[in-house]
Amino acid sequence: MKENIQTLKKWIDESDNIVFFGGAGVSTESGIPDFRSVDGLYQQKYKYPPETIVSHTFLTQKPEEFFEFYKEKMVAPALNAKPNRAHKKLAGLEAMGKLKAVITQNIDNLHQDAGSVEVLQLHGTIMKNYCNRCGKKYDVKTVLESKGIPKCECGGTIRPDVVLYEEGLDTDVMEKAIRYIQDADLLIVGGTSLVVYPAASLIRYYKGDRLALVNLSSTGQDQYADLVIHEKIGEVFSEV
Ligand code: ZN
Repeated sequence: MKENIQTLKKWIDESDNIVFFGGAGVSTESGIPDFRSVDGLYQQKYKYPPETIVSHTFLTQKPEEFFEFYKEKMVAPALNAKPNRAHKKLAGLEAMGKLKAVITQNIDNLHQDAGSVEVLQLHGTIMKNYCNRCGKKYDVKTVLESKGIPKCECGGTIRPDVVLYEEGLDTDVMEKAIRYIQDADLLIVGGTSLVVYPAASLIRYYKGDRLALVNLSSTGQDQYADLVIHEKIGEVFSEV
């Protein structure tokens, strides 16, 4: 085992107040594409980059195209995916009483599917949806199986409880995430390049001396970490 992974293992063994903060990389190992990475597929079929489509303006002005992309590229892949080694390890650490919370930027349900209970989803979840007129709640199946724009009985549009571009984060979830990070003695950050707001700013709240960054490529925050591991998060978690 490599020395830096050994160090992480030691830190995990010694801690009973671990917080994990994860990004898209945690889900890509389950086969969910990072919708921010524009690949050929998107360009063949969609006229706009994902950042443009997954925005408040687009949902309002071009709902047909929003929901076509959203259902095909975001909901369907997420529902077909299975938790990987990272999800399972984190759920196990929580069950042992060592991990207090998973904070994620992902909108899929894989942490919960793996058995995690305290999951803070900064960007919301595909599982919850509501009518933008009457507020009635709907499950993800209703949205996925709808033809075109999902409609409520009242005639309103059913939208996902997901934070779109141009929309603000839920302040309650943010405050809770900050508290967990402030109180943690080991903060593991994984599968995020830490460039998308609020990831980079959130880890600044950590006050301890055991900040571990696990990401395949280097991040803009590597210099602030006490331990840096440039490997896939799932592989690292299978060893610790
Ligand atoms: Zn309604």
